[in-house]
Amino acid sequence: MMPPMGMLYGGVETGGTWCVCALGTGPADLQSAETFPTTTPEETLERIVGFFAGHHAPQAIGIGSFGPVDADPSSPTWGHVTTTPKPGWRHTPVATEVRDRLGVPVAFDTDVTAAALGEHRWGAGRELSSLCYLTVGTGIGAGLVIDRQPVRGLVHPEVGHLRIPRAESCDSFPGACPAHGDCWEGLASGTALRARWGTAPEDLPDDHEAWDLEAEYLALGILSIVSVASPHRVVAGGGVMARVELLDRVRRRLRELVNGYLETPLLAERIDEYLVPPSLGDRAGVLGALALAELATSR
Ligand code: ZN
Repeated sequence: MMPPMGMLYGGVETGGTWCVCALGTGPADLQSAETFPTTTPEETLERIVGFFAGHHAPQAIGIGSFGPVDADPSSPTWGHVTTTPKPGWRHTPVATEVRDRLGVPVAFDTDVTAAALGEHRWGAGRELSSLCYLTVGTGIGAGLVIDRQPVRGLVHPEVGHLRIPRAESCDSFPGACPAHGDCWEGLASGTALRARWGTAPEDLPDDHEAWDLEAEYLALGILSIVSVASPHRVVAGGGVMARVELLDRVRRRLRELVNGYLETPLLAERIDEYLVPPSLGDRAGVLGALALAELATSR
């Protein structure tokens, strides 16, 4: 049965390569969705506005954007993509443009925070009050939902740039982050794997030495997140994490690193329930954007 028209939400995921727009109330009710390439800001915003202008106006639109972004509602540059290296997109007022042109309330956050909200609302964390959504792909990023609210503050969490101890004294790889060299994503993203081993991560066999080192770095970073934010579950997605064997190695290593200090079975014998794959697949971002819109109107 169709919900009342006024209850529809809009969701926009602006990724570095693709942009997804959708209209609906959740995963069982995505009434319309469209995917198109993320090109120039002008062209991409035109297509986003065009998508919604062609449908009944939603109650609110949520936008989950590649970052960095300004997601602080009290900031004069709220709704902007800020210092991105993506050509042409620096300081683009994404959310304000969509809001002003369509006359609809807009909620705005990072793509990973949106994905965290999506997994929290409808996916791998729906019965929990907090979770971390981690993605390990070209870069490393995470969104945190704590007490059912997305975490944002002065800026937004940038876990990819955590400083992680070197796993071995003989690891002389300088790291792949342009800003920090050997921060977490400089050591363990797909970009770092490719630079370190000279091969695309998906082409490295399961028994390659790369994976023990990768599991070590991922477990160290996740331990930092667990130690600071204490989420009830960590949902780990992204292209690098798609390797099932890797997820198991990270679980084993995380359990060893916790070493019984944080006394909960979820960080010991039940760690398979703690560190889990996403359950919304590649729809987490756009569904999360719908959840962002829903959350903004429920306040
Ligand atoms: Zn960095």
